[in-house]
Amino acid sequence: MIQTNTQQVSDFIARRKTTCLDLFSEAQAQGFGDIHFKSDPANQLQAIIAIHSTRLGPAAGGCRCRHYATTDDAIEDALRLARGMSYKAALAGLPSGGGKAVLILPDELHDREAFFESFGAFVESLGGRYLTAVDSGTSPLDMDIIARRTRHVLGASRSSGGSGDPSPTTARGVRMGIEAAVKHLMKRDSLEDIHVAIQGLGHVGYPLARELHAQGARLTVADTHSDHVERCVDEFNANPVAHETIYSVECDVYAPCALGAVINDETIKHFNTRIIAGAANNQLAHERHGNLLHERGILYVPDYVINAGGLIHVLLKDQSQREERLLHMIDTLTELLEQSSRSGIPPFKEASIMAEEILYS
Ligand code: NAD
Repeated sequence: MIQTNTQQVSDFIARRKTTCLDLFSEAQAQGFGDIHFKSDPANQLQAIIAIHSTRLGPAAGGCRCRHYATTDDAIEDALRLARGMSYKAALAGLPSGGGKAVLILPDELHDREAFFESFGAFVESLGGRYLTAVDSGTSPLDMDIIARRTRHVLGASRSSGGSGDPSPTTARGVRMGIEAAVKHLMKRDSLEDIHVAIQGLGHVGYPLARELHAQGARLTVADTHSDHVERCVDEFNANPVAHETIYSVECDVYAPCALGAVINDETIKHFNTRIIAGAANNQLAHERHGNLLHERGILYVPDYVINAGGLIHVLLKDQSQREERLLHMIDTLTELLEQSSRSGIPPFKEASIMAEEILYS
């Protein structure tokens, strides 16, 4: 038995040596404070909480629940997303640090309540250093379950006294950000007849389509779910295209609202847009893609600058405070676009510089 375990441990170490990221080097390079792991086999929980920074306040960030091919993929996702949250909160002027939880969804989840209760206990064990919230694969109802075990949860359902789904506020912020980008690049004061191609019509993409349609924009839309597409065609007179071709639609603004890493070696050849501005987190597969867009004269609005509406929604209870923060977010965006025009540095790099000044000065 001991021998088997020893063999298993050395196999594990050998596999990590050959296949995986060097966790401490990676964490150090990205400026991390702490990373926590929880395994609770009885409740099928395998979770990672990455805390990037608590300098400006407790580390807030959603809990993402999805399948991952490897544990390293899950760790990488948690690290990248947590760092993005620190930068997002800093630029939005919020009293919050950056963190993220990643829950590895098993092939078959037997008891969702037990799973999220166990995660709630994990969050509680960190004593408020990390505040969890809704993200891909979780809902306000899951937050209600988590709230049975911890107070450190944001965005529980309205029926249980929480702030509810933040997505409409995210969509509102993205629409305002698109207006700012159109004004900056195209010198247009309204979205009347501006053509926007939206990828993904879920919690954010659908209300974004509604907001844009109300401002007179023309819409082309794509989603892997045909019913999501149909309601936008019916309600907003949107033009549907296959989800594989949305990248090459000739438009003024391409708004990614589905997946991360959509600006990559493959898609970058096809973009036929003047602006890229959408809600999806981590849109650039790699920094070099941001540089390539800049060289091609495509204005890429950094995702974590434009999609802070959700964080604003869950952190601030009062609607007028939320509006005030959204306007602050747009002022920051306008300032960074102007700074980028002056310096010739792409906006995504200017955004990092601005965020790091706030975080580390
Ligand atoms: P969601 O899961 O509700 O919606 C995503 C939509 O994209 C779904 O309708 C899905 O069918 C569609 N989709 C998936 N793959 C696609 C593909 N290849 N092509 C076209 N459509 C595809 O998620 P959401 O809450 O709307 O979030 C969208 C993105 O915005 C995510 O990256 C999320 O991390 C980010 N984000 C969301 C919020 C928020 O408040 N919900 C806040 C900040 C950032």
